[in-house]
Amino acid sequence: MASEFDLIARYFTRTAPAGLLGVGDDCALFPVPPGEQVATSTDLLLEGRHFFPDVDPRALGHKALAVNLSDLAAMGARPIGCVLGLALPRLDEPWLAAFADGFHALADAHGCPLIGGDTTRSAHDLAISVTVFGAVPAGQALRRDGAQAGDDIWVSGELGAADVAYRLLDGQYPADGSLLAATRDALEWPQPQVALGLALRGIAHAAIDLSDGLLQDLGHILAASRVGACLEYARMPAATALAGLDEALLRRAVLGGGDVYQLCFTAPAARRDAVAQAARAANARVTRVGHTLAQAGLTVLDGQGQPMTALPAGFDHFPAA
Ligand code: ADP
Ligand code: MG
Repeated sequence: MASEFDLIARYFTRTAPAGLLGVGDDCALFPVPPGEQVATSTDLLLEGRHFFPDVDPRALGHKALAVNLSDLAAMGARPIGCVLGLALPRLDEPWLAAFADGFHALADAHGCPLIGGDTTRSAHDLAISVTVFGAVPAGQALRRDGAQAGDDIWVSGELGAADVAYRLLDGQYPADGSLLAATRDALEWPQPQVALGLALRGIAHAAIDLSDGLLQDLGHILAASRVGACLEYARMPAATALAGLDEALLRRAVLGGGDVYQLCFTAPAARRDAVAQAARAANARVTRVGHTLAQAGLTVLDGQGQPMTALPAGFDHFPAA
């Protein structure tokens, strides 16, 4: 039977890049360039709550890191490295090998090596905790509190597909194999917009990554920045895979659907060309979906320019009773 140390050596030890001290000592060490700040974020993923127990372990390894890289992206931070905490209810080596593969592949793609962690047997469900470290020049991070009244509001990528895939897998929607096939990658293989976040430094006033749904996540920018917003539903980049979906379900997926891991950001209207150029440089699609207002509140206009009522709420882990 493999020991904890065998597992760490086999699946989680990679040669650390020059200048870093990776797995194997009591702490990892990494340098921080002069004049830069460390950006750090952690996410805890629990079986049954954040992923289905039978999810492809390679996809799970990818997503566990992707949701953290997405937080670095939303701050405009460049990845440095990450640490991984694992509570394992069972020792399934093929599962662990696939999980590690998915994790390391994304780590390599973003230059975010795994430099430490903790591994323990658990009497409970699988739990995965990832912490990322990044660097950003002091004062240049894209924070939630920087939006100004009159800013454009932008989103990257497409909206809604992950929410629909989740509801199909969860049995909330009738089984639909082709719709699931068209939406599943959005849920299981989110692509963190790190390059876009970096390219938006000095252009965007505020940014957040979309984990809980556009309305809820934008709401955090509005609250932190003390501004309001008006969105135009007709401008929303609904996922093409959702063409033909019932209108009410589409609206809920686009405005309230979580697990998107794209960016929502604000930028001055005078910087539209710069935003477009940043998106091109990052190979990202961006769509202008509304603007901020001095007055608090969030309005979404329908195709006729009328305020929508009964807007979907985003995901809340502690909903009011
Ligand atoms: P300690 O007892 O000092 O916490 P451990 O025996 O837990 O050390 O870990 C040994 C080394 O392996 C450490 O460098 C730790 O960061 C690393 N490590 C443990 N688990 C993981 C993991 N899941 N992923 C990456 N590194 C890990
Ligand atoms: Mg330990």
